[in-house]
Amino acid sequence: MIRVIKLGGSCLKDGPSVLKAAGLAGAGRGKAALVVSAVQGVTDLLLEAYQTVLHQGKDPAPVVARIRQKHEALANECLARKEVRDGLEARFSGIFGTLERVLLGISCTGESTGTIKARVLSCGERASAFLLAAALEDAGTGARVYETDKVGLATGGGDPENGSVDLGGFDRLFRPAAEAVLAADEVAVFTGFFGSTPDGKVSLFGRNGSDYSAAVIARGLGASRLEIWKDVPGFMTADPRLVHEARLIPRLSRKEAAELSYFGAKILHPKTWVPLEDRPVPVEIRSFDDERSPGTVILPRGERTPGIVKSFSLNRDVAVLRVSGPGIGGQPGIIGRIGSLLAARGINILTVLTSQTCINLILASAEAGQAVKVLGEAGEETLRLIEAEEDLSLLAAVGEGIRETCGVAGRIFSVLSGAGVNMEFFSSGASDAAVYMLIKRTGAEKAINSLHRHFFGAWDGPSPAGC
Ligand code: ASP
Ligand code: MG
Repeated sequence: MIRVIKLGGSCLKDGPSVLKAAGLAGAGRGKAALVVSAVQGVTDLLLEAYQTVLHQGKDPAPVVARIRQKHEALANECLARKEVRDGLEARFSGIFGTLERVLLGISCTGESTGTIKARVLSCGERASAFLLAAALEDAGTGARVYETDKVGLATGGGDPENGSVDLGGFDRLFRPAAEAVLAADEVAVFTGFFGSTPDGKVSLFGRNGSDYSAAVIARGLGASRLEIWKDVPGFMTADPRLVHEARLIPRLSRKEAAELSYFGAKILHPKTWVPLEDRPVPVEIRSFDDERSPGTVILPRGERTPGIVKSFSLNRDVAVLRVSGPGIGGQPGIIGRIGSLLAARGINILTVLTSQTCINLILASAEAGQAVKVLGEAGEETLRLIEAEEDLSLLAAVGEGIRETCGVAGRIFSVLSGAGVNMEFFSSGASDAAVYMLIKRTGAEKAINSLHRHFFGAWDGPSPAGC
């Protein structure tokens, strides 16, 4: 049995944290494989380097040297054995030498492609994986790096900056790597964040995509558990930056975790659940700063708690797009057409509510202006009046059984009216684990604090770690 341990960039920020991260998979802790993000801040540096080289034709040598030095400083801090340091230095020469040549090509031509950009950005995870493997070896634990553009994490095509693994192909192609990992007496260290296109070029899984990578690897290895180590204690009853009384949630169902991620809790990448859909593996969110804290365990099936609601989450950047016109409710296919027009520009609809005269689309507020333009220019006779209201927040209450339990909605209504917060929209029934409401952004903090106090009471214990 093997555990998969995912380490985010915040777990790789200085010498002590790299050693601690390596220690999670070290001797005496059972068989484990690691999936790593880039060292904290490195993906942003690579992105910046890529953009300045592409748009300003700058010489990439100084920035590559800076990124390399950052890794060398960590290596010097962490590694005692000279042969391990020399081995890592040779790896760094390979990774950063290639990076510099690729960037130089972009700088000279002023041209690039999505897969070239992906190749540049993938260097952060390559360097951190070899750093972690070296830290393990330095401590006497054998380790082997698997670069994930070479072991079967092929996407089905599409955007190389935001791909998803073709899981059917992966189950077949990854088998030799899985067998080697399971048979070997060493820790496998996988690069997070990227795989390959169907024709073998680098493809990313989107920013913060290493959670997703870890889920894919856990699937491929038949892991008994997936541990995701972060700089937060786990899922909380609300965002502790908004609600000081927020506390850790010990257990959640996958559906609840997915609803919370979807509605704004930025703890797990929303795609994480896809590779695990038919695998009952438990997922643990663990606090890197407080190893003794149990974190949040996410199980395939959930349990109801007496208060039903387990968490409130707030997305403060939403807009509602109102599309009205005569007889809009009687037009077959109108929502499909609106959806296709927006999808063609990559605009995601969070939720939809319709009446006979109006279709309300809830979107990220950053996309509202463009959505108004796209629909306005479509020349559809029925789409007469298109307007966006942008100063809104979407508040979700999440908990298994929320739809079927009488009285929860009533309590939410009365708490909000008692707090003087007007609800513009309330939606229940789309999921049995979430209800959500649209309120003015100015009332959002008051609303979430009032609801939290009502459902969870005041908290006089210690603040959860990391908050
Ligand atoms: N390093 C990548 C990023 O910062 C992937 C990750 O951290 O999950 O987006
Ligand atoms: Mg990151």
